[in-house]
Amino acid sequence: MDDCLFCKIVRGEIPAKKIYEDEHTFAFEDIQPKAPTHVLVIPKKHIRGLKEAEADDAEMIGRLNLVAARIGRERGIEDGYRTVLNVGPKSGQSVFHIHLHLLGGRDLSWPPG
Ligand code: AMP
Ligand code: ZN
Repeated sequence: MDDCLFCKIVRGEIPAKKIYEDEHTFAFEDIQPKAPTHVLVIPKKHIRGLKEAEADDAEMIGRLNLVAARIGRERGIEDGYRTVLNVGPKSGQSVFHIHLHLLGGRDLSWPPG
């Protein structure tokens, strides 16, 4: 996707603080962190969001979560973190390239707003 912000980050056309990268997945610091750890984990493949994902994307969705767990381990925040997918504009989704938020490093209230 030529004009997708997160595709541009994956291609290195827009700078980001990279945390992790493998063949399929990319993770970077959120530019407006809402917690001491706030990392976005995305697939390199452009998919608009969870509701646009298909059966073939099951592995990718699993990978996003496992990369988040790996970063949670590396950051030493396993006493409590949250992974979040905002889905659709009413949830606050503002970037339409699927991204898993990893939030941690502080107490997290429930339910989220
Ligand atoms: P969402 O609201 O779920 O779509 O999340 C989009 C997230 O992307 C927000 O938390 C933004 O702060 C973050 N964001 C937007 N632009 C950038 C950027 N250039 N680099 C890193 N994070 C960004
Ligand atoms: Zn994209």
